[in-house]
Amino acid sequence: MSGGVDLHSHTTASDGALAPRELVRAAARRGVRVLAITDHDSTEGLPDAFDEVAKHPPMTLIPGIEINCDVDGGEVHILGYFLEYQTEWFQAFLREQRSERKARVYRIAARLAELGMPIDPEEVFALVKEGSAGRPHIAQVMVARGYVKSFREAFNRYLRAGGPANVPREKLSPAQAVGIIRRVGGVPVLAHPGLAERDDLIPDLVTAGLMGIECYYHEHSATQTLNYLRMCKDLNLVATGGSDFHGLHVGRTNPLGSPAVPLSVYEALKARAGEARATRPT
Ligand code: AMP
Ligand code: ZN
Ligand code: FE
Ligand code: FE
Repeated sequence: MSGGVDLHSHTTASDGALAPRELVRAAARRGVRVLAITDHDSTEGLPDAFDEVAKHPPMTLIPGIEINCDVDGGEVHILGYFLEYQTEWFQAFLREQRSERKARVYRIAARLAELGMPIDPEEVFALVKEGSAGRPHIAQVMVARGYVKSFREAFNRYLRAGGPANVPREKLSPAQAVGIIRRVGGVPVLAHPGLAERDDLIPDLVTAGLMGIECYYHEHSATQTLNYLRMCKDLNLVATGGSDFHGLHVGRTNPLGSPAVPLSVYEALKARAGEARATRPT
């Protein structure tokens, strides 16, 4: 078996540019053989994606999720893989998360108005359509209104963690997100820890049931990647990786299938999934 492995991607079900079927086709064109779709707080893209993947053998799709949590001084994102995502209590949890995201859009809009940059939340929701609302949609409206020149400027000046227009979420801690993923039979993985710079939280996350760390990531330096690979070895965690592909609209240009992730990572993740099912908390 050959081909690329990409364990982190987004569709229009959250803040990605491509519809699930388009994403699968784009991944196939780039030689991705194992793809995980990890939309923020939504699995709504998965049925179409599974249907499309069936047309591209021998491609494999891993059902995934990304849950963003705010912590003091930053944000921590938790990925989940191979979860039994159709479980009713889990879907209720995701619906609640999405409704909080919607409420957060109103709160951020109020902050922006105070800063002299009024936006209409309805404009944001028009971009989101059926998906999971997030700051990238707000950034797009800020660019359209001419408040900032680029998506990146919107984040760097206003929307980043600790930024003047950001409103942190308080409800869910990263350890709780890890616990939820374990309870739904999934494999929880700490996303791009080099961006969060909260490695001090890792021991607690491991206690909560964390099974992996996203080591291979385009914004990690070579040193960071090596450090996280070593950490995975020391803590007996699986070292994962992915593109975090969103499409070009959000000012992130990292392509699908990059950086390269060894196929052995997929095998290791599958083994953890078996373990997660066998030790699932009730
Ligand atoms: P949210 O769902 O509101 O937490 O927004 C998180 C998403 O915003 C991430 O998945 C990225 O797509 C994007 N994002 C977060 N921080 C930045 C940043 N500093 N620059 C560009 N995009 C970012
Ligand atoms: Zn995103
Ligand atoms: Fe993330
Ligand atoms: Fe992501």
